Amino acid sequence: MEAAGLFDRYCAVLDRMDDACRAAGRSRGEVRLVAVSKFHPAEAIRAVASFGQKDFGENYIQEADSKIRELAGLSLSWHAIGHIQSNKARDCVGKFTLLHTLSTRSLLSALAKRIPEGSRQDVLIEVNIGGEIQKSGILPGELPAFAAEAAAEPKLALKGLMCIPPAAGKDEARPYFAALRQIRDRLEKELGQPLPELSMGMSADFPEAIAEGATIIRVGTDIFGPRPAR
Ligand SMILES: *Cc1c(COP(=O)(O)O)cnc(C)c1O
Repeated sequence: MEAAGLFDRYCAVLDRMDDACRAAGRSRGEVRLVAVSKFHPAEAIRAVASFGQKDFGENYIQEADSKIRELAGLSLSWHAIGHIQSNKARDCVGKFTLLHTLSTRSLLSALAKRIPEGSRQDVLIEVNIGGEIQKSGILPGELPAFAAEAAAEPKLALKGLMCIPPAAGKDEARPYFAALRQIRDRLEKELGQPLPELSMGMSADFPEAIAEGATIIRVGTDIFGPRPAR
């Protein structure tokens, strides 16, 4: 995509974020935009970074790794937003500002083993908010026990929850966003610790997610355009 087209799309997303925050009576500073760059080349990321964007999201650790190296001079913040197999734990240590998708005990213990003594990785737990069998994520009923384990692991800093609602129109997504917020509120009380981050909302539905309390939205297509085939 032409840089000028990218700039227009990026600004349109920022405008819609502003509008959604205003409509929800929230301050714009409460919501962080993660630009989801999976499958897009480093040059597109460089262009969006030149508009002032700092946070980028990648789904695949290997793909992320090569972009992180190539763009190291830009001091960007990288977010891991895809499913992470526990045998990839070693490859993601030290590279990501935030792992959005902690969802298995095997990844939890692999991370605990690979993260060096004295450092901590910020994580979110991915919740399977629609209870869909084909999707990853912790089922809401299993969340309290799993979150207690994650919170007790000294090498992880549990910051909140993430979800991808069942594929549907934006009006259908909103109740799932509300549900994730309510689950978070309850979990904070159960764990006795704040869980400030709610990572929810993508191109199709981020204004609805902001209305329901998202603190991080993950937007790919609306910024970069359609993803090229890999
Ligand atoms: C690809 C992806 C996104 C971005 O989706 P768009 O619809 O392109 O905005 C957000 N979150 C996750 C987990 C993704 O895999």
